[in-house]
Order: sequence, then structure tokens, then C-alpha cells
Amino acid sequence: MQFHLDGFNAGDPRVQAPSESAKTNPQTDSLPEQVDVLIVGCGPAGLTLAAQLAAFPDIRTRIIEQKEGPLKLGQADGVACRTMEMFEAFGFSRRVMEEAYWVNEVTFWKPDTKRPEHIVRNGRVQDTEDGLSEFPHVILNQARVHDFYLEVMKNSPSRLEPDYSRSLVDVEVDRKAADYPVTVRVARTDAAHQGEEEIVRARYVVGCDGARSAVRKSIGRELSGDSANQAWGVMDVLAVTDFPDIRLKAAIHSATEGNVLVIPREGGYLVRLYVELDKLNENERVASRNITVDHLIAAAQRVLHPYTLNVREVAWWSVYEIGQRICDHYDDVAGRSDCQDLPHVFIAGDACHTHSPKAGQGMNFSMQDTFNLGWKLASVLRGQCTPNLLHSYSAERQTVAQELIDFDRTWAKMFSDRPSEGGGEGGVDPKEFERYFVRQGRFTAGTETHYQPSQICAEATHQHLAQGFIIGKRFHSAPVVRLADARPLHLGHVARADGRWRLYAFAGEMDRAGAQSGIRALCEFLTDAPESPIRRYTPQGEDIDSVFDLRAVFQSSHREMAIDSMPTLLMPRKGRYGLNDYEKVFCPELDSGQDIFDLRGINRELGCLVIVRPDQYVAHVLPLNDHQSLAEFFAAFMVDLQP
Ligand code: FAD
Repeated sequence: MQFHLDGFNAGDPRVQAPSESAKTNPQTDSLPEQVDVLIVGCGPAGLTLAAQLAAFPDIRTRIIEQKEGPLKLGQADGVACRTMEMFEAFGFSRRVMEEAYWVNEVTFWKPDTKRPEHIVRNGRVQDTEDGLSEFPHVILNQARVHDFYLEVMKNSPSRLEPDYSRSLVDVEVDRKAADYPVTVRVARTDAAHQGEEEIVRARYVVGCDGARSAVRKSIGRELSGDSANQAWGVMDVLAVTDFPDIRLKAAIHSATEGNVLVIPREGGYLVRLYVELDKLNENERVASRNITVDHLIAAAQRVLHPYTLNVREVAWWSVYEIGQRICDHYDDVAGRSDCQDLPHVFIAGDACHTHSPKAGQGMNFSMQDTFNLGWKLASVLRGQCTPNLLHSYSAERQTVAQELIDFDRTWAKMFSDRPSEGGGEGGVDPKEFERYFVRQGRFTAGTETHYQPSQICAEATHQHLAQGFIIGKRFHSAPVVRLADARPLHLGHVARADGRWRLYAFAGEMDRAGAQSGIRALCEFLTDAPESPIRRYTPQGEDIDSVFDLRAVFQSSHREMAIDSMPTLLMPRKGRYGLNDYEKVFCPELDSGQDIFDLRGINRELGCLVIVRPDQYVAHVLPLNDHQSLAEFFAAFMVDLQP
């Protein structure tokens, strides 16, 4: 973590200095008449976006929520490895790791063949394959995830806080309007302001307002898919039990009493039990079945037989109904042949895809939606990228959500089917169920998301130069040692959620930044050439790395390298005092044998340049000396600031 750049600041470095506009115009109780971005809904999707945009005080963002305050408990709890990587960029992954339950192993239970009314353990597997991510798969109350985001927003230069007790009524887009084309009607719902309405005009509106999204309806989009919902009973309980796997994630199939999913929770005592209920009829709501928590407890007790479950306290319970549904487009213009316009209204999270809770993807996918959208909105609003870039949100996220729906359909069916022995007709073979879980591990960890070639994800022409940094997939971090202070760390952790592009330059053999060095030549190109992206797209007066953050990784041990022989761009002078940034250069972690060049299949002879998007996805892999292609890549979607 870097701080004190613009002068010494006492206290918690996570609390950033407020921007001038936050000081002079602190947030008031009324919504402003005009905003750049209005976010609807304080769920995981809305808060990820708000936390991302809060980093840019020059963007006027507000987030409204119909509830009267922050979520306190309940809803989702699974946090996938990929999400933890994103939390690292927001600066709270370590606190989540400390608080959360870690899913290290999973067990599978089935009916005992000799006494089918009893369940027996049938398998035990590692949850996440070795080396998939430096972060674990964890379980933490969704409300705590919200808390961390709210803190990031409050400590940001924008000092952004949600506007609660406000319900979006509708959204209208005036395509002829030169500015602020979206008009939003908001109803105040607290007792003091009952009946009052506010009108806000926005450049962009993002509907993160859940499965019954009013924003989605306003732009004429529909969720399509299952006609009927599957109902699930879910309860977070403190209980006394002799079931031995109560502190392991456990999928339990009973012979005749249904299925239970055990999810141990943070804190060592709490446990979540998902109890599968009947499929609902078309248009039937689960409320009509009058299911109580006692029904859920009794059902869980029957499934767990011969083990006992004595529930002492129910912290939260719900009957959660869901179908596998998805929108075919995630904005107000995509796919509409009559409309060639740019998008101004977007939907994200449950507003555009819903699926079963069994694979624990709801919260994770929703947050990844808006992490994808956030940097794009910021770079368009800040004049860095052309607005065409915004088309890529629906194109990228809808495609990967469709994969999720397909996966979830198979997984949910396997979970619901009655168990068969040896794969007999009409049931699921418990061993096949376990094998499917293992095979799909990368998918549920969130690391299989793969964006197709586009303006912002190049063709894999030079993929052979870095086989472990797959273009279109997330940057798979690896250990390195920072040259200046010999500190071991993860290379991917230098990437903060700050909207900047990362250029990771991996040196070729014997390259130590000397006269003939490929790294030096790259630095000279980036510093001096008129077509250099740094020169063309970095606003005057800003730090040299404010848009492109160049980092170099050499092959030699850090003990053999000298920081003072690095090109200026790798030790740039920044901030109001022109202080040197010493944190741009890295070497392999040779002592532990975890050499990043081997781990990620980087061509040792030639090295390469890996371009990573602000949302941590690999955009391009290039030869170190292909400066022309580097310039052309960014020229396709960035706005040239040079006269
Ligand atoms: P949400 O978390 O649904 O957030 C949407 C937000 O928008 C809400 O805060 C809502 O109040 C607000 N909102 C809605 N309409 C308006 C409006 N007109 N104006 C202003 N604000 C509005 N997932 C699991 O994996 N396991 C579970 O057990 C589980 N249980 C759930 C129980 C409930 C009751 C709900 C609603 C969801 C549950 N989920 C569960 C789903 C999981 O929480 C979601 O997948 C995840 O939260 C999606 O995030 P999101 O931000 O897209 O939407």
C-alpha cells in the first residue's frame, strides 16, 4: 500500500483525503438534479460499482436503495476465489479472510445401501485445485461484504454514501438530449417524506435492483428461461448436532427425504442449511405454501437421519425461490436493430440473471458484472475512452452469464435428482455428482470467465510468449520479490481498483535494463515516441502512471539487480514533491522455487509484454519490441489528448 505521496498524513491510510468537491459540496439528504451515474440498488452489484466510481471524485455518482439502511443479515454468503482477487484490489481481502469460513474440503453423503434410511459419507474432495488462485474460497454473510464496500466508499475521496429509503419508480431515455439523457423518478419511502418524489437527470443509470428490477422493466428487457421457480428453504442456525461434517461444506442426498446442503459459516458455530423444497407451479409464489422455519428444521432433521440436529437459535431464515433466467441484452440498446445509439441504461446482477444458490454464484457473478462495467463508465466519463466501449459490457457479461445458467441447470438437476447406485436409471450416481463438482471447480471459483476477442481483448497471436496469462481471462497472479525493498509479494496485488491499465513487462534472458535491453527500449518508446500510449492518453499535469501503470519483472535474483540503474519510467517522480516511486520493479521469487517465468510459461529468451485491463483481465500479450502493436491496440478505443 502506497501513501504520503502528496505530503505526510497521520492516521489510517485507508481513509483518503476528501476531494475539493466533497469538502465544498458534502452529500445532503436530497438527491441532486443532475448526476453522472445513478446506481439503483445497494446489493453486491450496486455497491461494487459505487465503490469503484467513488475512486473518481470528478464523477458525480449517487446510489439509491429502497431499504431504510444497510443489509444486516441473510441472503448469499459464498465468496469465490476470483471475487477475493477483486476484493484485494478494493483493499479488503485480508479482512474477509480473517473473518470468513474457508471452504477447503467438501464432503458428499448418500443413503447407506444396507440401511437406506441412514445417510453415509460417500466422498471427500479438496474444494479448489492447488495453484488456481492465491486466495481461498470463503463463506461470509453478504451483509459483511456490503459493510466492506460501504467503508471503501466512505473513505474514498468522494465520501460517497447511499441514499436510503428511495425507490426507483421509472426511467426514461431521451435520445435527442445532448446531455443527461436519462430521467429517473424516485419515490421517497421513509415516514418523514412519504408521498414525495424526486426527479434526477443522469448521463448513465445502472439498475442493480435485483431480480424484480424496475430498471429492467423500464427499458423493456425481460428475464427469460424457466417458467417455474424452484423453492429453497435456507436457515442460518446455531445448533447442537452429532453430524460429523457440520464444519465442512457437505452435500447430502437422502433416499426419500430430499437433499440438504451444509455450509459452515464464519465464527466457528454458525451453520447455514439449504433444504430443497418442491418445484413451484407456474406463477405460484412460495408464500402461498405457508412454509415455516419449523418445517425447514424438521425436513433437515429427516435428511440428516440417523444424526440429530437440535437447533438452539435461528439467526435468519428465508424461503428463497428462483428460476434459471437471463436477459438477452444488458443495456437499453444492444441487439435492437432499430437503434444505433450508445447505451445509457445498464442492468447488472440479479436484474439480468438468476440461478440456483447451489453453486454459490449469485453474489459473485453480480459483483463481477459491475467490476466489468465500472472502469468502462469511468474511462468514458473522464474522456479517456470513446463511448463505444460501453457496448462491450453487455457483449462480455451476457455471454459468460449464459454459460453460468447452462452450468447451473446441470448442477441443480444433479443436486435435486434422487441418488441411484452405480448410475441406474432415473437417478444420479453419487460418484458422478462428486466428479462433476471437481470438474467444474474452476468455473465455480470464477476463474474460467473468458472474454472473446474484441477491441479490448486482442486475438491470441502471441499467446505462446506467456502461456499462463490467457488473453481474455483474469490475470493469474504469481509471487515475485520487489527489487527496491526485497519484499516478497504477489504481482497481481499491485493492481488496485483505480481504473488504471497495467503493463507488465517481462524481461528476456540476461536483460538487466542495460544498453541493449528490451525493457529499456520499451521504456524509451513509452517516454519519447509520439505514438506512445502514455504520451497520447495521459492528461497533462497528472502523474506519468495515472493511466498506464508500467511494471517490470526481470529474470535475475533481486540481489543481482540495481534499482538505480533502472530507466526513469520504472522509478518515476510523482506527486507534488516529485518523489520517486520505488515500487515498479520486481524479480522472481527464487528462494522458494516459485519462479513467475516458469509458473506462467513466459518465454525466457524473449520475455513479453502483458497488458491487463483495469478489471484485472488480460487484454493482450505482445513481444516486448512490438511497440507498433502496443500503440495500435490502445488507439482503437482511447481518446487522443495530444493536439
Ligand atoms: P440484490 O442483492 O437483490 O440487491 C438489489 C437491491 O436493490 C436490494 O437491496 C433492493 O432492496 C434494491 N432495490 C430493488 N428494487 C429497488 C427500487 N425500485 N429502488 C431502489 N432500490 C431497489 N443467494 C444465495 O446464493 N444464497 C441465498 O441463500 C440467497 N438468499 C437470498 C434471499 C433473498 C431474500 C434474496 C433477495 C436473495 C437471495 N440470494 C441468495 C441471492 C443473492 O443475494 C443475489 O444473487 C445477490 O445478492 C445479487 O446481487 P444484486 O446486487 O444483483 O441484487
